Amino acid sequence: MGLPSTTPAELLTKLTGMVVSTSGCSHAVTEVYTGEQVVDLPQSDPVDVQTAYATARAAQAVWASWPLKRRLAVMKRFHELLLECGLTAVDLMQIETGKARRMAFEETCDVLMVTSHYIKAAPRILKERKHGGVVPIVSTSTEVRVPKGVVGLISPWNFPFATSLSDAMPALIAGNGIVLKPDNKSTLNVAYGVSLLYEAGLPTGLVQLVCGQGPDIGSAIIDNADYVMFTGSTATGRTIGAQAGQNLIGCTLELGGKNPLILLDDADLDEAIAGTVTATFLNTGQACMHIERIYVSEKRREEFTRRFVEAVRAIQVGGTYDFAPDMGSLVSVPQRERVQSHVEDALAKGATLLTGGKPRPDLGPAFFEPTVLTDVTEDMVLARTETFGPVVSIYGYASVEQAVALANDTEYGLNASVWGGDRKAAESVGRRIRAGNINVNDGLAVSYASKKSTSGGFKASGVGSRHGDAGMLKYTDVQNVAVLKKQVLTNPPDTDWAKQVAKTVKGLRFMRKLGIR
Ligand code: NAD
Repeated sequence: MGLPSTTPAELLTKLTGMVVSTSGCSHAVTEVYTGEQVVDLPQSDPVDVQTAYATARAAQAVWASWPLKRRLAVMKRFHELLLECGLTAVDLMQIETGKARRMAFEETCDVLMVTSHYIKAAPRILKERKHGGVVPIVSTSTEVRVPKGVVGLISPWNFPFATSLSDAMPALIAGNGIVLKPDNKSTLNVAYGVSLLYEAGLPTGLVQLVCGQGPDIGSAIIDNADYVMFTGSTATGRTIGAQAGQNLIGCTLELGGKNPLILLDDADLDEAIAGTVTATFLNTGQACMHIERIYVSEKRREEFTRRFVEAVRAIQVGGTYDFAPDMGSLVSVPQRERVQSHVEDALAKGATLLTGGKPRPDLGPAFFEPTVLTDVTEDMVLARTETFGPVVSIYGYASVEQAVALANDTEYGLNASVWGGDRKAAESVGRRIRAGNINVNDGLAVSYASKKSTSGGFKASGVGSRHGDAGMLKYTDVQNVAVLKKQVLTNPPDTDWAKQVAKTVKGLRFMRKLGIR
């Protein structure tokens, strides 16, 4: 299978040339559908990371001095360029991750939506806020938003374009520089997005690309950063959070999930089945928010299971650079082996396989069938561990109370879905689930795509959040600039303190009554 025509050798050379690297080492990037090598990706070492920060820091001083309007003009041009050239990013994502074209296209839409949201919202979010100061009339206090400096941004392979570019956007608009480390498996598409930012007018050096295995350069990224934005596994998140804490810098950790879906008795089954298939198998089950546990009342379990399995069997799996396949490949052979081992462990311990369960070597080295299991018990690895593949388990429940308790019985709290005809009732069930995203009559998109609302993981699914006002403010420090028009706060040496205390008490009471303080 040939690579798409939008990815000629010169483009690949240009993209790999963007990596800050003097190490002489490289990583072989392969086309997931065939396993064939595409290009050698240079690797950075800790000294390269330091160089990247120095370059980004110099550019950031210039960028932060630009008026917000000028920075936003760059992002408007970037938005336009991505609308025009998005399919090249889509091709690169497919080559590197093996995902279905529809999902790769949706990733570009995520970046477009986040960019246009912050273009509109940034002037309001970042504007200075003037308050009355400690003494009415003679003093003022102004909250000023100052960019953190240079953000270390570490992204995973499953949604590389979105988790790199969408999370970079509010940081950049707020005036920061970025040192960006995508996963080795998924760097080319990210480099392409960064090249579009430069084409749109970003100052030279503001976004620096470094590559390498996390344990080799992760420490240097955090040690040189003013803030860390990390998306990836909970295990890595714990390491990064500890180091950020040690360095007294802030971080956002967007981590894993084991997300539940509850089907209430009055749910519309046609809609629920279509939505559940999407929420379970999108991105070949490699989405942090995708569904891995389905809870259905005993009353509807038989009908739901029969119709759901029929729908899963109809999923078109394939590895082509067009929009035909519903589902693509897993990202790599090791990821396919991990998914397969979870299924084999469950089957060995007594789970029932309703459909799927096998690799598809006829399609490519990392393909795996959409798989549905039931009779899953606590001793099976996939009962609690994130599988991160096209595998879902169906469980029954006797009461809504029990369904909520089962949904909450996990260390994670990223996403949850509730389906029901009575939307208010379904919403109130959803609100009882300890998760950062609750979707009523949808699996995940309705919450994730609401860019005005801030969201993040509860429990072991994360610290901090993205999107909304908080998703931009986190990349700033707040400075309180207070001004006294006349010095009235210092007491003269001959102050009568008894009188002064009485006067102060009277003044505080008066101000509370007037609502001034
Ligand atoms: P991972 O933690 O192995 O890797 C993520 C990134 O961190 C990669 O770039 C990797 O090279 C880097 N890394 C690894 N070890 C590091 C270290 N010690 N220091 C610094 N960087 C290091 O995760 P993964 O397997 O690539 O991604 C899948 C995981 O990401 C899943 O658990 C998924 O749920 C989670 N995820 C979460 C979200 C979210 O928004 N909550 C989104 C996408 C993926």
